[in-house]
Amino acid sequence: MADERALEVLRRVFGYDHFRGPQQDIVDHVVAGGDALVLMPTGAGKSLCYQVPALVRSGTGVVVSPLIALMQDQVDALTELGVRAAFLNSTQDFTRVREVERAFVAGELDLLYVAPERLLTERCLSLLERGRIALFAIDEAHCVSQWGHDFRPEYLGLSMLHERWPEVPRIALTATATQATRHEIAERLGLQDARHFVSSFDRPNIRYRIVEKNDPRRQLLEFLRQEHAGDSGIVYCLSRARVEETAEFLCGQGIDAMPYHAGLDAATRASNQARFLREDGVVMVATIAFGMGIDKPDVRFVAHLDLPKSVEGYYQETGRAGRDGLPATAWMAYGLQDVVQQRRMIDESTGDDAYKRRSGAMLEAMLGLCETVECRRVRLLQYFGEASQACGNCDTCLEPPQAWDGTEAAQKILSAVYRLWKERGQRFGAGHVIDILRGKRTERVVQHRHDELSVFGVGADLSDKDWRNVLRQLIAQSLLTVDHDAYGTLALTEGSRAVLKGERTLMLRRETAKPARTRESARTRAAVTLPPEAEALFTALRAWRGEVARSHGVPAYVIFHDATLREIALARPGSLAELGEISGVGARKLEAYGREILERVKPPSTP
Ligand code: ADP
Ligand code: ZN
Repeated sequence: MADERALEVLRRVFGYDHFRGPQQDIVDHVVAGGDALVLMPTGAGKSLCYQVPALVRSGTGVVVSPLIALMQDQVDALTELGVRAAFLNSTQDFTRVREVERAFVAGELDLLYVAPERLLTERCLSLLERGRIALFAIDEAHCVSQWGHDFRPEYLGLSMLHERWPEVPRIALTATATQATRHEIAERLGLQDARHFVSSFDRPNIRYRIVEKNDPRRQLLEFLRQEHAGDSGIVYCLSRARVEETAEFLCGQGIDAMPYHAGLDAATRASNQARFLREDGVVMVATIAFGMGIDKPDVRFVAHLDLPKSVEGYYQETGRAGRDGLPATAWMAYGLQDVVQQRRMIDESTGDDAYKRRSGAMLEAMLGLCETVECRRVRLLQYFGEASQACGNCDTCLEPPQAWDGTEAAQKILSAVYRLWKERGQRFGAGHVIDILRGKRTERVVQHRHDELSVFGVGADLSDKDWRNVLRQLIAQSLLTVDHDAYGTLALTEGSRAVLKGERTLMLRRETAKPARTRESARTRAAVTLPPEAEALFTALRAWRGEVARSHGVPAYVIFHDATLREIALARPGSLAELGEISGVGARKLEAYGREILERVKPPSTP
């Protein structure tokens, strides 16, 4: 049964007309005192699932969040909405802590954000005893998962909330989706009896693209210039060195880029993050240390210059794009080196066999996504146990790669590797094997008399690039391995035999020669472009928003989202009542900014 009070809060405070997807059910369930485990993709609107019930129920909603660096922004955003919110964490001085504690006990807070390690202190627990708690929200609940990438030991202690406050509803939320993680969260937080709300994990506004890596920096630059000039976005790299190098390169090319990784001191990290959040059009080049809890809604692209370790990681990272529902791109450059490097990292890790097997399986799934000739989204969603249809908004849907029978080509490579080993007791790297196949009499080939091998020249029909492509796919499928010695020599695997003996047909992927990308991206751009007059107003409103945000010391999106400003620019409301109808304009913001906006919307009066 829908709770009228919840809808009233949604409209008045947040300025939204209706709940999205499962929000209504979740809110009703928690308002009624039920426990919930909520799995929703990034950008689907998890925050409202606990913020609205906290406002409807009496008492304070206590939000456990691991993201100290972002609490200030979260609280600022709520304050802008007229919600009474505060946080408790280690960055505050004692006077401020005392003030927040007093306000909580006096029942003057709607929401209180607390870091888990803080919550578990005796001081904090006894504080909570003295006030009235509307609910506990456990954000980023996957941090309780020991297999996950964001494990926080403090999260394990949170199961005691239930023992100490059995009558207070708890809602745990995460964007991490696999069955295994979900069960682990439920078990560790004692939420087996809670209602589980599992949403579709699809992010339809994100366009997935994975390109073959040949000159990554140039490819990245081209992608940024042609498709996302002036946009905010994140570029993920595997290592700190690569982050530094890439950020520097982009800056040299006139792009407003900044580095972020765990090796930078805390102050630099904080100031780079603040610039990314507050200013428009900043590109963050980062390791995966960056991103959790970044709820900047207008990140227009997420680019990967290196292969992520798992599909889960990839989905979390790319999910940071397009939270506002407007078109966004997840772009990745992927090549042979990525496969080799990731395999080596697993082999050389200090983990036990079980760890290596699990990491290996996660990598296989990621490689499968890269090499698929089918819809990327279908693949992704399948990984999270969800069936779907070809999406029409990923590279394989838009520019279908050809699938070709690569059995014979594969046999040629494998037998070259086999002959070198069998007849000569030698092993060589990819470049040399390709030279042999293509019948090139290089110095090395002649020196080793490899032109006398029966496989010499049998592969002249394919180009170097084609062969590298075949090779990469064989390695990705573990039909060939690269040794982690200094030379990267090739060796057969258990799987090679079936291919060599012709017991297995091998369908491979071939990129279409000239992608029709420019035309395609022009089309998406058109979909988001406003008519000229509205565009001018939108730009003016954004400039106004920038000033307000600066004077309040908050990120621009905390004042209004792009989507709201766009709607205003299109609708040109003529009165406060009309402005109030626009999605994202709640009572408080209408009161604070309504007149200023109407001033700007009004056509200039003719003198
Ligand atoms: P998540 O935490 O799931 O990543 P958020 O809670 O940050 O998502 O919400 C994503 C965006 O969607 C936010 O900008 C939020 O204001 C907006 N949003 C959420 N629910 C609604 C709704 N019912 N109507 C309109 N916009 C919404
Ligand atoms: Zn698709």
